[in-house]
Amino acid sequence: MNQYNSLKAIQADLTAGLITLPGLVAMYLKNIEIHNPQLNALVEVYGEEALAAADKIQTKLNNGQAGKLAGMVVSIKDNICYKGHQSSASSAILKGFESLFSATAVERILAEDAIIIGRSNCDEFAMGASNETSVYGPVLNAINPSKVSGGSSGGAAVSVQANMCLAALGSDTGGSVRQPASFCGLVGYKPTYGAISRWGLIAYASSFDIIGPITQSVGDTSSIMEVISGPDGHDATALNTKVLLPKSPEKMTKKMKIAYFKEAIDSEGIAPAVKQQTIAFIEKLKELGHEVKQVSFPYLDVLVPVYYTLTTAEASSNLSRFAGMHYGRRSERAKDLETTVKFSRSEGFGAEVKRRIMTGTFVLSSGYYDAYYSKAQKVRRLVKNYTDSLFEEVDFIVSPTSPTVAFGIGEKASNPLAMYLADIFTVHANISGNPAISIPFGTDEMGMPIGMQLMASRSKDADLLAFTESLSVQF
Ligand code: GLN
Repeated sequence: MNQYNSLKAIQADLTAGLITLPGLVAMYLKNIEIHNPQLNALVEVYGEEALAAADKIQTKLNNGQAGKLAGMVVSIKDNICYKGHQSSASSAILKGFESLFSATAVERILAEDAIIIGRSNCDEFAMGASNETSVYGPVLNAINPSKVSGGSSGGAAVSVQANMCLAALGSDTGGSVRQPASFCGLVGYKPTYGAISRWGLIAYASSFDIIGPITQSVGDTSSIMEVISGPDGHDATALNTKVLLPKSPEKMTKKMKIAYFKEAIDSEGIAPAVKQQTIAFIEKLKELGHEVKQVSFPYLDVLVPVYYTLTTAEASSNLSRFAGMHYGRRSERAKDLETTVKFSRSEGFGAEVKRRIMTGTFVLSSGYYDAYYSKAQKVRRLVKNYTDSLFEEVDFIVSPTSPTVAFGIGEKASNPLAMYLADIFTVHANISGNPAISIPFGTDEMGMPIGMQLMASRSKDADLLAFTESLSVQF
């Protein structure tokens, strides 16, 4: 059977009777059996359930009653709740925890007949950029297994990269969908903050978190967005509008105004191949007739500090609920309230999560609140205002997704600062709430994929997706 790279191709073959849905699921299960033991992308596979769903949906297809996503086989990140299934945020503290309800995004894809094939590995509580902090061990990049998958949605990316499913739902707080997509040669999308309900997404930093798809084509991302976006009574921060795409986004011919940051291109840490591809991408956009101009972004150096100050503060509060009482695991040494909390947390959380809880507690502590938390909030506002002012002039902002290609396993694991700095281009969109997409654009000399990021004005998700889809047709 073909290795499919779009839902459109699958649906065409299903309609033509060239394949059946149970056959398609069996193909993905076979790929999982072959590749997952080495790559470690999925931590649990719902084989029987997926086959049973395929049977049911095949009948609906035969009767012409199937939903929009019939034929889409999906993995969901281990921090997205799915009723009756485990969700552990790849942490020992939640090992064995079974969710009592499904995330809104999960309910919505199921209602349109997508099939969930498994739960994907991730950095513990989505904190990381390499998928090395997971209690289940690292995820390996299918192109070169000595390299990281990226993170935190590394398992999500590799599940798609290695054809274990067609698409994945990940989450993006500071780049966790876009960066692994870029490391694996895929499309990764972080919608406008609030475009998808956070109901059922295990919280890391609530004012930054969003669910996002990882796919092989922009069209599939758009199909998923049309289904999962929109208002939700369970989440007051969910926006009131749905993301709806124009009829033929690939035929968009409008000439756009696009900016790139001088500071990003000149930034010290950017790998030569990534810089070269970014320049080539800009040239390509100009060739297509778009107006591309260089602008200054004076806040580039403060993005990472602002991001880590605010997200750790929010994480320290969000993760206080994991105390060995309501969810997941309780320490065997627990005797009373104090030992329950103390031992369950110290045994259950990994080193990176502890580092962030402590940093967050520190920046919120009374003596330092103004110097760190308050100040970072003010700078967040400046970044947001400045970004808004740029989008009065231009339609999109282009940058590399990550300053480097996928690095070696273990290369940055003992240097948190180096790991954090790698988030420089992705955290911007989460700080300001803008939508941003990563699309593959070439490779370095070793064949490792490079991703380009396009960011748009808040709530311009449909425009960004339509434009990117038109680009993928023209490139
Ligand atoms: N690498 C970033 C972090 O560690 C992003 C994580 C994410 O988006 N979930 O926080």
